[in-house]
Amino acid sequence: MLHNLHSTDTIVAVATAPGVGAIAVIRLSGPEAISITDSVFRGKDLLQQASHTLHFGTIRDGEKVLDEVLVSLFVAPHSYTKENVVEISCHGSDFIVQQIIQLLLKKGARLANAGEFTKRAFLNGQFDLAQAEAVADLIASDSALSHEVAMKQMRGGFSQEIKRLRGELVHFASMIELELDFAEEDVEFADREQLRALINNIQRIIRDLLKSFELGNVIKNGVPTVIVGKPNAGKSTLLNKLLNEEKAIVSDVPGTTRDFIEDEINIEGITFRFIDTAGLRETTDKVEAIGVERTMQKLSQSSLIIYLFDITEVTAAEVQAELDRLNPKKLPLIAVANKIDQATPEKLQRFESIAGLVPISAAEGANLEELKQALIEKVNFGKLNTRNQTIVTNLRHVDSLHKTYAALDDVLNGLALGISNDLVAADIRRALYALGEITGEITTDDLLDNIFTKFCIGK
Ligand code: GDP
Repeated sequence: MLHNLHSTDTIVAVATAPGVGAIAVIRLSGPEAISITDSVFRGKDLLQQASHTLHFGTIRDGEKVLDEVLVSLFVAPHSYTKENVVEISCHGSDFIVQQIIQLLLKKGARLANAGEFTKRAFLNGQFDLAQAEAVADLIASDSALSHEVAMKQMRGGFSQEIKRLRGELVHFASMIELELDFAEEDVEFADREQLRALINNIQRIIRDLLKSFELGNVIKNGVPTVIVGKPNAGKSTLLNKLLNEEKAIVSDVPGTTRDFIEDEINIEGITFRFIDTAGLRETTDKVEAIGVERTMQKLSQSSLIIYLFDITEVTAAEVQAELDRLNPKKLPLIAVANKIDQATPEKLQRFESIAGLVPISAAEGANLEELKQALIEKVNFGKLNTRNQTIVTNLRHVDSLHKTYAALDDVLNGLALGISNDLVAADIRRALYALGEITGEITTDDLLDNIFTKFCIGK
């Protein structure tokens, strides 16, 4: 276990986003965080102050005042990293921030690597690996659902479930290993029936967790969606309508900090990312229909298809034939009849045979709500149940769960074949290892580097 692995150097980085803001926060962590800050701070003697106190003063380079600041002190181990931590709130100019950081570097701090604060927090036992990863997800969360799932993971919901499963397996592993010590005497400490039942149960839970990733992935990364159809069906009109609506919604929220993201819409917390919209934007080049190959390529990158047709131009039979041709892999698809403002009710009725058809007028914006509901229903795996269910959102965790599952299969097969105890024990240990990778009970430097370098500097 890697607890209390105290680092010797003190790191510094700006913790707030670059650019002009009212304030910026510079964070230091390490044994010298307080003394280094004190050496450039004019105000109270920071070395004499209690943890969790706030101090006003100036940062000076010699006699030159760089800024008036507020300094927050967190004395080890009562801080995010469990080391001494100082947060300097200065005026939010990149110039001031750089001046102060340069000064702190001169006084003995070094620039933090990406994710190094959170990595230290993990290494010092503040939280486990899955929780540390959730910090990154939380920072990146841009919808109510992604926020909720990341928050739950950060607070340890997912980790507890994994640790519980692991704890039960550890018990059996130690029993079997005990039997190995008494090999001559032919004793059985670990009840094989119970072990089988436990493994079946763990595998069932892992299957549920793996299934939850379909939803977790959608919540975290959005649904790649494509709009296809013949030229002039109204694809670009529909796309623009949906995106302009979204733009209006986003800019209507007072004080919103969320930027409008091009080519994305958000419905009930799920992000739909429209892929390859560049072609649709160009309304000039109507004659050149996109080739079949190109369409197929677009379809292969998406997990949801909107097939749009001009109801005044085609028959139901033609549409059905096109749908069958387009979607051999049976991806989730919504057939949408456009230009109903030009169609009589009788005409519309002739399309009743097409399953789940949504009739709209893209130009008039009619029935777009119904289309949005259809979109959300297509990705809605039963009822969204983020509250009571653990949802896996991380590909690394999925990988470890697969490895655990496979190792448990080997345990079951081994038991069925009556193979020797040491082999069964080895398979259980393999399962334990894979599970331990999720929460970080098992780690390697490569694994840690891989995770934390994806964080930004200052996190
Ligand atoms: P795309 O080639 O599929 O992208 O089609 P466009 O969006 O460029 O639309 C082709 C033509 O159909 C344009 O002249 C649009 O104004 C028109 N159009 C699009 N949607 C509707 C609609 O709902 N009703 C009517 N009457 N015309 C529409």
